[in-house]
Amino acid sequence: MISRRQALLVPLAALPAAAVAGAVPAAAAETVPGGPWVQENQPVVLAGMTDNSQLVAELQRLAARRPDTVRLTEIGRSLEDRPIYRVSVGSGPRTLMVVTQQHGDEPVGTEAALQLLTHVSGPSREASALREQVTLEVVPRVNPDGFERWLDPESYPGEDPRRNAANLDLNREYDPAVPVSADAPEAAAVRALVDQVQPDLVLDYHHQVSYVTDAGEQVTMSVLWATVGGVEPSVVDDGRRAAVVVAEALEDFGHATVTRYPESTTRSVARNGLALAGTPALLIEQRGQYEVGQKSLGAFTREALVAMEAVLESLADGSFDEVDPADADLLPERGDRDRQR
Ligand SMILES: [Zn+2]
Repeated sequence: MISRRQALLVPLAALPAAAVAGAVPAAAAETVPGGPWVQENQPVVLAGMTDNSQLVAELQRLAARRPDTVRLTEIGRSLEDRPIYRVSVGSGPRTLMVVTQQHGDEPVGTEAALQLLTHVSGPSREASALREQVTLEVVPRVNPDGFERWLDPESYPGEDPRRNAANLDLNREYDPAVPVSADAPEAAAVRALVDQVQPDLVLDYHHQVSYVTDAGEQVTMSVLWATVGGVEPSVVDDGRRAAVVVAEALEDFGHATVTRYPESTTRSVARNGLALAGTPALLIEQRGQYEVGQKSLGAFTREALVAMEAVLESLADGSFDEVDPADADLLPERGDRDRQR
């Protein structure tokens, strides 16, 4: 299913000034130097993107419409008191957790997760069979305060929408040997849920800027499993299996080039920290840190959804366990920054 919300963000340059939400006429900008004017390449949000209140409403509507298949639980509050939800569907023995938007300015995973929840909770025989094999746990938009800053930068001058309201990077709060910062309740909620649920796998959705492979192809997604010492080998291997499943699904889907994200041994990022604590995790970085504003938003969302569905289905039918983790080494390196963009 294609996104219901097509082309919701457009690049500033493509819009007449009057259409730019919150923008001021150029003449006014010139008379007030240093004002919080919309910058080139800054995404401009138009009606239709799922904002914070819409996300809450949409999740509550889904849970109310499908009380037999959707369980909605508030697992925490952001620093600015926005709810963080756990959405659970299914009762199968294998559990996939999808975490989106730890970085407030990386919204596509959230849009895709909403579509996934709608599919998996639905009345089709396929969805019903899936729910008997797997349990899906979604934490959509871990960083609603950052997203608010991304949507409305004029109200938060100088603040980084990637980070939370205390200017913390939530994806540096996962070292199991270090307690979560007091000012990162959003990450604390995720870590506590992982501890409680002990999922078979966590997919952690992000965006990166544009890259090209050495073969000259535009990278649409980069993935990486745990790459820090001290992780149980079987935990690393399950992350690698997930990478292979995602890459193969997107190869079949087309319009996608999946590469390996550059390694680091940082313990505090989710893919390493969760794995150190025993939970396999895969980092998923989609192209679109800046391009998400363009008409390709629907394609980005579709790509994210294909990856989620493939992993969920492979856990459900057991093919996940048959994947050779060594195949992850076949993924090409990410390559260089695409300077055209
Ligand atoms: Zn990110």
